[in-house]
Amino acid sequence: MSVGISARDVLAVSSLAKDICSCLKEIGGAKTEYQDLERELECLQKALTHLDRLQSKKPSPTIDSIRFAALSCRRPLEEFLRKIRRYETSLGPECTKKSLQGQLDKIRFRFGQSDDIRKLQNYLSVHLGTINILLAEHGLETMMLASEEAESERLQIHQRLDDTQNLLHRVQDNISAQTATVLNGMSILAKVHSIVSGETQSSWASMKEIVAKACVSTQQIYSVVLDIKASIASKVDVRWSFFQDPLICEDALGRKFPVPSEYDFAMLNVIIRQRFQTGPGSAEVALGDFEITEATDRSSFLSESSFLRPGSSLIMAILIENPFPIMTDEVCPMPRCGSSVTRKVDGGGRICCRCNVWFAVSTKKRKATDIEDASMVQQVIQEILDHIMNGGESTQNTTRKRLKITYNHESVRAYKNVSLANNAHYVCDECRKTFKRAAHLRRHQLSHDAPKYI
Ligand SMILES: [Zn+2]
Ligand SMILES: [Zn+2]
Repeated sequence: MSVGISARDVLAVSSLAKDICSCLKEIGGAKTEYQDLERELECLQKALTHLDRLQSKKPSPTIDSIRFAALSCRRPLEEFLRKIRRYETSLGPECTKKSLQGQLDKIRFRFGQSDDIRKLQNYLSVHLGTINILLAEHGLETMMLASEEAESERLQIHQRLDDTQNLLHRVQDNISAQTATVLNGMSILAKVHSIVSGETQSSWASMKEIVAKACVSTQQIYSVVLDIKASIASKVDVRWSFFQDPLICEDALGRKFPVPSEYDFAMLNVIIRQRFQTGPGSAEVALGDFEITEATDRSSFLSESSFLRPGSSLIMAILIENPFPIMTDEVCPMPRCGSSVTRKVDGGGRICCRCNVWFAVSTKKRKATDIEDASMVQQVIQEILDHIMNGGESTQNTTRKRLKITYNHESVRAYKNVSLANNAHYVCDECRKTFKRAAHLRRHQLSHDAPKYI
């Protein structure tokens, strides 16, 4: 039924009814005959206007039926409009009532159209009734739908209210539980506070006691210190204090030790002999095979008459046998080194760049001679020491003849400062063989000479 019926068609019918109304109003003379028709047309127009307002809502079969009923009025309305437009010019307000043609038309209209008006009126009243009934039906349907929707919404609202009430109950329960927890926490906090404050108070009290004791002890210590200070100030003895810088002596093993500058050479000698009682160099020191020089000038040796300058540095070197048959002063004399890379020292002598040993050729002769028997060395040293202990003098002279000290490689390796003894060697010019005595060299040289036959 709804096919081909649109809102525009309904509007066309409405405008048609409006046109007929305006036409009838313009034909003022025929007013009484079609008052009812005019009322019917107005009713139709109102119904159609009401129908137009329903357009925006969702389509329903009732609205389509109303549209169909409205459209079925279209054809008779158009026909009637066409008929009355013919009389519009002669019966309208513009025409003069005196003209004969106008009076004739009026009479013709009154008799010719009264049947049409009645027919149209009946037709319209039937359809208008249908339209009104359908509109009422549609209104009822809409109301029913609205009441159903309202009912469902009411149910939803009721449901939501129930949910909200449940939530409120739950929130209330939570709040009461939290209140209980907070109260519990507050009581615990109060307990903790009381415990902590009690402990802290006791700690503070004990700390206060400790601090008070510490204060008392400090005061006692201070008074003791004051007493000590007073006693020192009155009894200090400055006779044995060192007012000069001490001498710094570096011994043959590289050990540095301070020597009071009030000491003389003999006391320094005693100190050195005491330090070399055992260990590397003990035999050489016991025999006096060592030299003491100033670090700034190693060519002049200290002796009994030397003055020990306060603050100066002394070097002690042990006399060792020159290991090389030919005298040289640029090759390191240390066993298992023999490096030729050496540098000159300002005070004199040279220092090996490899083993850092200071060495120089001395003018002194070495008293000890080489032997291989180590036990005999110990025996000889013991004899010397015993002699010294017994107050003997000129030890070296009395024992020199019996002394034979080994040239111990291991002890030589421990030395830091060495002097090469001036034990003159007798060297053969032809084969570089060395001899300790000139007679031996002369006897050897005879072997190079050509045999002489006399
Ligand atoms: Zn070296
Ligand atoms: Zn020779």
